[in-house]
Amino acid sequence: MPADEAEPSERPAGSAFPTGDPLDVAALLHAPVRRPRPSRWDAASGFGGKKALKAAAAIGIDTVGGLLTHLPVESGRVGTIAGVREDERVTLLVQVQRIASRPVRRRGMRPLVEALVTDGTGVLRVAFFNQPWLVERYPPGTKLLLSGTSKGPGRFSVAAHAPSSDPLPEPTPLSAGVLPDDPDGGTTVDTGEGAPADEGDGAVMARYPATDGITSIEILARVRELQDELHEAVDPLPGRLRARHRLPGRVDALHAAHLGDHEAGRRRLAFDELLLGQLEYLRRRRRHGRSRPAVPLDGPTGLTDRWVAEALPFALTDDQVKAVDTNAAGLAGDTPLQRLLMGEVGSGKTVVALHAMLRAVETGHQAALMAPTETLADQHFRTLQKLLGDVLVPVELLTGSTPQARRKVLLARLASGELPLLVGTHALIEDPVVFRSLAVAVVDEQHRFGVQQRSRLDRKAPDGRAPHVLHMTATPIPRTMALLAYGDLDVVALRQLPAGRKPISTHVCASDRERARAYERIREEVGKGRQAFVVCPLVDTSEAVDARSAVAEHERLSTGELKELRVELLHGQMRPAEKQAVMERFAAGTADVLVATTVIEVGIDVPNATVMLIENAERFGISQLHQLRGRVGRGGNASACLLFGPKSTARLRALASHTDGFALSEVDLQLRGEGELLGTRQSGIARYRTARLPDDADLLLRARDVAEELHRVDPELEDPIHVGLKDAVEARAAEADAEEAIPA
Ligand code: ADP
Ligand code: MG
Repeated sequence: MPADEAEPSERPAGSAFPTGDPLDVAALLHAPVRRPRPSRWDAASGFGGKKALKAAAAIGIDTVGGLLTHLPVESGRVGTIAGVREDERVTLLVQVQRIASRPVRRRGMRPLVEALVTDGTGVLRVAFFNQPWLVERYPPGTKLLLSGTSKGPGRFSVAAHAPSSDPLPEPTPLSAGVLPDDPDGGTTVDTGEGAPADEGDGAVMARYPATDGITSIEILARVRELQDELHEAVDPLPGRLRARHRLPGRVDALHAAHLGDHEAGRRRLAFDELLLGQLEYLRRRRRHGRSRPAVPLDGPTGLTDRWVAEALPFALTDDQVKAVDTNAAGLAGDTPLQRLLMGEVGSGKTVVALHAMLRAVETGHQAALMAPTETLADQHFRTLQKLLGDVLVPVELLTGSTPQARRKVLLARLASGELPLLVGTHALIEDPVVFRSLAVAVVDEQHRFGVQQRSRLDRKAPDGRAPHVLHMTATPIPRTMALLAYGDLDVVALRQLPAGRKPISTHVCASDRERARAYERIREEVGKGRQAFVVCPLVDTSEAVDARSAVAEHERLSTGELKELRVELLHGQMRPAEKQAVMERFAAGTADVLVATTVIEVGIDVPNATVMLIENAERFGISQLHQLRGRVGRGGNASACLLFGPKSTARLRALASHTDGFALSEVDLQLRGEGELLGTRQSGIARYRTARLPDDADLLLRARDVAEELHRVDPELEDPIHVGLKDAVEARAAEADAEEAIPA
């Protein structure tokens, strides 16, 4: 990409544009938005200072391309001087009449710049502190956007300013001829008591998400400087495709997004972004499969058949059967499986994963399962052992705390192929770990691993091969989110919970009576031999946060409401050995109630627990609450989840009315938008600047269809009509690679 590498210093100071004709659009979009040299201040010189530049970079608008896709959040009217009300924040479009600096008496202060400005409806005297260069930058006649607050007649405190090329509003009869000659007499026109603010008159102007150090009008001013240049911008979409999908041209869309119909323009830009993202995913998947083929696992199925028929004490659910079958079909090919198995806790993912692992074993290869923490690895290890039952397949656990001697033996067995199954943390992708023939890798909670860790796992397969990889996640997300975050993976979902599960009844509780009833319920359940969780948001009482703490609740309950019961405490600040002991007592049933923080969210599997009481539930997100709820109802006994918090909280109401994690994830997306959904922040969503969910779900699905079609007919985008798309996809991929190069 020669355009990207163009040396910024070759460009004239004060301009973001490369020199020469015709306009090199790629170079333009990657050109930095830079600080001009102080000697070259002029109306077309970009952001005003180091601080603004830094602020711009922080919100991703350090290149021209970034700036153009930093879209306004709304538009507002430009106010008029005559309409300004005291203490109201306004944006004004004015023309400088006079400007001068005068010394300030305080030592160390730069001269004060005072200007007399007008917009035809009145005049205003404004002061700029600490910016003496403005005298040259804004000579009389310069049009300015000013935003700030009126502090009473004649006093206006400027918060932001930028040059503008907008036409001034037509002078109105009321204001004509009121401009005083003497600058010192300058004052806002007194519009009289109760005069209506002049809302309707001003031009409509975009408001941008701004940040400390750079303001909306500075951004707007910069965008406007660029608009002429952009008429030459290349539209990455071929004309036919645009026509078929009735999309406006990109230049028109950019123009509209900033300066016209924001939403229509934004949607076209969003479509581009989504399409490029999907093309990039499809391309990545195709290339991955080509560079390192997998071992096809297509041998006979004796072991897996016997395992399903004899070792498993239950029948697979329909979803499990479907997942197992699609996996087996994928494993039989030499394209490495890249699949995401989504299903909430208890939906039976491990069973599906083990099936794939056993496919490797019965065809003479090995399989590994990698989990993000030791606790999870340990838990998976036990689950696998349990699920294997009488089927005698050796399985071992390898984590950071595996003793040296044991580790040595284990590694030798792994290298010889004698050990077919290995469970572990990322300890199993360290260099000394050598498999004889790793064919299937299962990665649990894959979003918690970095790209590099995953590629190290890939290299554990022998001679230039890649393992088939099955990712598992217990955080169900809507299909649209999955496309955005994991568009390079096939997604298989387990929606059904295994039969025999009793539904969990969920109640939002607020009153004292409900609280009393909740403890009564816990006592009843314990009376029946069951157990309960009480979850608090805090470990210890805090003066800053008004919420219940595990330490205080443990004290309170064990000496009060639940003093007849065996109440234990568990939180993340306890020593590991202590935690372990508590968990073991609870698992063994020698404790009745566990008062805990969210440490129990993962890693605790006590099917005998039937009550989950959550304090200050409003402090938790939907998916977290749902995960916590999933800690009960695992043993075939009717269970309850009691959420203490305001009844009006939409999230809590959603929990009470949905038990399906996929349905809840849709609600979560509606309530919070994509940026906040648990576990997806790291997965590339943040790279979308103009697209957003759920608003653009329809666009995304369309973009995926278009991407798949393009990928079918021209996977490497070699057709000359796809050159714009190809360039754009490559630029996007290069950006992604640069981000991923940062160690996770
Ligand atoms: P996940 O990994 O999705 O949390 P697991 O595979 O660990 O779920 O299964 C959770 C529990 O449900 C395990 O105790 C497992 O034995 C059991 N289980 C899995 N599949 C079924 C099924 N089809 N019928 C009954 N029980 C099942
Ligand atoms: Mg599991």
